[in-house]
Amino acid sequence: MDGNINELISDLRTYLEYLKGMGITSLPVAENVPKEAPRSETLTLADVRTELGDCKRCKLHRARKTIVFGEGNEKATLMFIGEGPGYDEDMQGRPFVGRAGQLLTKIIESINLSREEAYIANIIKCRPPQNRNPEPDEIESCNPFLMKQIRVIQPKIICALGAFSAQTLLKTDTKITALRGKLYDLEGIKVIPTYHPAFLLRNPERKREVWEDMKKIAELIQGQ
Ligand code: SF4
Repeated sequence: MDGNINELISDLRTYLEYLKGMGITSLPVAENVPKEAPRSETLTLADVRTELGDCKRCKLHRARKTIVFGEGNEKATLMFIGEGPGYDEDMQGRPFVGRAGQLLTKIIESINLSREEAYIANIIKCRPPQNRNPEPDEIESCNPFLMKQIRVIQPKIICALGAFSAQTLLKTDTKITALRGKLYDLEGIKVIPTYHPAFLLRNPERKREVWEDMKKIAELIQGQ
């Protein structure tokens, strides 16, 4: 075996010296070099859902009934991102379907959009036990799929619902009272945080601020 390799190296050296003698000092690169990875435009939400599969990448899979992937328009201009599924969402496998979900639908309709025209997702896709906050390792496992959804949809605006969503997307611990209503950037997409509908159910006097934030979103959509 070693003899064959030595023979090959010797032949190659002779060949290269022959080329050098002919004045050839460089060789063309082979054509079958790896091509660029497919661009995200070629990916669909169905592809992302297939890749997610019956996900057990974090411990939240143990108590969940259903993965809540997200729903809405694959080409949505406006995307809403909440924290995670609650009881109703876990049962139905759909985001924002409880009382807070009904309020979110009204909030969307307040700027003359239908729920179906937007896309609705959460930071994590499985319900945490007793609705506790998701933990860092759970977010880390789930986040790549949310980011893929965002890259497929390429919304003009993301409305982050509540402190947890806004702080996770913007990688900050600034309070939601300071974040809300302002414009931020995520991979070239405008992000506007506002209060979570569940918070509004407990604090209806804060609805006016959400209305202000939604008016800003409507202006951005119209001005695009
Ligand atoms: S929360 Fe996300 S990463 Fe964890 S099991 Fe559910 S789908 Fe998988």
